[in-house]
Amino acid sequence: QKQTVVVTGASSGVGLYAAKALALTGKWHVIMACRNFLKAETAAQSVGIPRDSYTVIHLDLACFESIHRFVKDFREMGRSLDALVCNAAIYMPLLKKPLHTAEGYELNVGTNHLGHFLLCNLMLEDLMRSGYDQRRLIILGTVTANPKELGGKIPIPAPPDLGDMRGLEAGFKAPVSMINGKKFKPGKAYKDSKLCNMLTMRELHRRFHESTGITFSALYPGCVATTGLFRNHFALFRFLFPKFQRFITGGFVTEELAGTRVAQVVSDPLFGKSGVYWSWGNRQKEGRPSFEQEMSNESLDDTKAQRLWELSEGLVGLS
Ligand code: NDP
Repeated sequence: QKQTVVVTGASSGVGLYAAKALALTGKWHVIMACRNFLKAETAAQSVGIPRDSYTVIHLDLACFESIHRFVKDFREMGRSLDALVCNAAIYMPLLKKPLHTAEGYELNVGTNHLGHFLLCNLMLEDLMRSGYDQRRLIILGTVTANPKELGGKIPIPAPPDLGDMRGLEAGFKAPVSMINGKKFKPGKAYKDSKLCNMLTMRELHRRFHESTGITFSALYPGCVATTGLFRNHFALFRFLFPKFQRFITGGFVTEELAGTRVAQVVSDPLFGKSGVYWSWGNRQKEGRPSFEQEMSNESLDDTKAQRLWELSEGLVGLS
């Protein structure tokens, strides 16, 4: 009997190649949790994921009703949940005005953080029920949301920071669009959402690791400059960015390699430690081993993590 892993946003980029790498081990059945069924199905077949090793289930993280329905659909399959990978994300740095989720929350934070926050809370129950001894919940992080790394120090449009979270406290609906309650900056909204992902991972670890034995971790797979994540950026940026990463910073990673790294964090016994953020560094070298990346002060702030958890519970309807 194969283990079951749910991968959100498996219809392209890192998630698609993670699904492929996991399926090809022969040990995992992959639930591709995607908002576009046809795109996911076509993508799975185009990269050669064996037909009997995956199932696409509809999930739109920008709609709470869809998240609840996904969990119900998953449970009706009768499979145990052995690993959950929170991979889906949007990045829309050129927005002039905020867009919103079905519930009216700003779309970057609504999708990347609140959607996954609700999903993790609901599926924790399923992970707890699994008898598998290496249960893991993994969240994708990024260098630009971590000021302890060079890429996280770039102040364009602003570094990530949640401030006193007065935007969340105020209900996070229009006219509020940023967690700190200040002016809308779309590029920063993405960084903030990924910082929330790190705080959520840390808080999941603090609350549940000891009592459940589940491993909670995050990873930075490297700069995968060719994925759809940048589809909403300037055309010139999309043209130059992969070349810049490949030839100047040396940070370029293929989608295939990034997917393999996610699969390792899901399934390799070497990645069993909870509460950590894995990285392979920003300058890629053949065969370079992974290491525990130092996290930013803000993402290690337990009081902030707890407050974010409570406010998020309120916003997703869990309290
Ligand atoms: P892609 O844009 O290629 O993939 C993102 C995936 O998320 C797509 O499958 C997309 O679906 C899905 N998605 C977006 N919105 C929703 C939603 N509302 N509900 C469900 N699924 C949704 O990006 P990447 O593969 O590059 O990014 C994957 C992860 O890796 C992200 O968490 C990102 O932050 C992280 N990351 C990426 C880096 C990079 O350099 N690319 C670097 C560091 C981290 P659809 O196909 O329908 O649009």
